[in-house]
Amino acid sequence: MKHMPRVLIVEDEPAIAELISVNLRHNGFSPIWAEDGDAAQRELDAVLPDVILLDWMLPGQSGLVLARKWRLDPRTKPVPILMLTARGDESDKVAGLDAGADDYITKPFSTQEMMARIRSVLRRRTPERVDDSVVISGLSLDAGSYRVTWQGQAMKIGPTEFKLLHFLMKHAERVHSRGQLLDKVWGDHVFIEERTVDVHIKRLREALGAAGAMIETVRGAGYRLSAQAITTPEQV
Ligand code: CA
Repeated sequence: MKHMPRVLIVEDEPAIAELISVNLRHNGFSPIWAEDGDAAQRELDAVLPDVILLDWMLPGQSGLVLARKWRLDPRTKPVPILMLTARGDESDKVAGLDAGADDYITKPFSTQEMMARIRSVLRRRTPERVDDSVVISGLSLDAGSYRVTWQGQAMKIGPTEFKLLHFLMKHAERVHSRGQLLDKVWGDHVFIEERTVDVHIKRLREALGAAGAMIETVRGAGYRLSAQAITTPEQV
């Protein structure tokens, strides 16, 4: 039997949850509904879903708080999160992405849009057949073991940032525009704004600590990973 991807819907409004569930089932997904953070946590503890649809406005812990919490938990960290939000403000979208959401959908949304975005995050999470490793100036990335180390120390890095770093390291010293990065790293950017790249670059730099300096912003052009941007102890 074909795998039916499990979608955990964290939504306090039964009518919306029901509507989403019906559409998901109709499209070959297996929906699970949780009405708040506690119920969602119980579902996550039992079985990990393939994707989480997370409402921003929830009783108790907000979607933002939950996204942050699930991103910090190593078990739930790899599960993509799509934020559902009635807010359209750019600052709110960025806050959602900063909290660890992979994408957001602004209410009201169409079924087609929701399905496209779910498929898009699922595609992005599908592991690539890459077993190679790249080393640049003390920064090492091993795609096979999904590990990033800086001067021998393991770094904690999110899935999207990992893909982004992998691409930048494999094509180091070259400038990539935001559009190119969306193409190469995200693959399907029909609904993704170029601003999203900036959010993930920021997250990547933070995750890399001192090595984050290797990722340069090239004004008016995009981003570049450069060994010259950093002085490693070996070179001192
Ligand atoms: Ca709500």
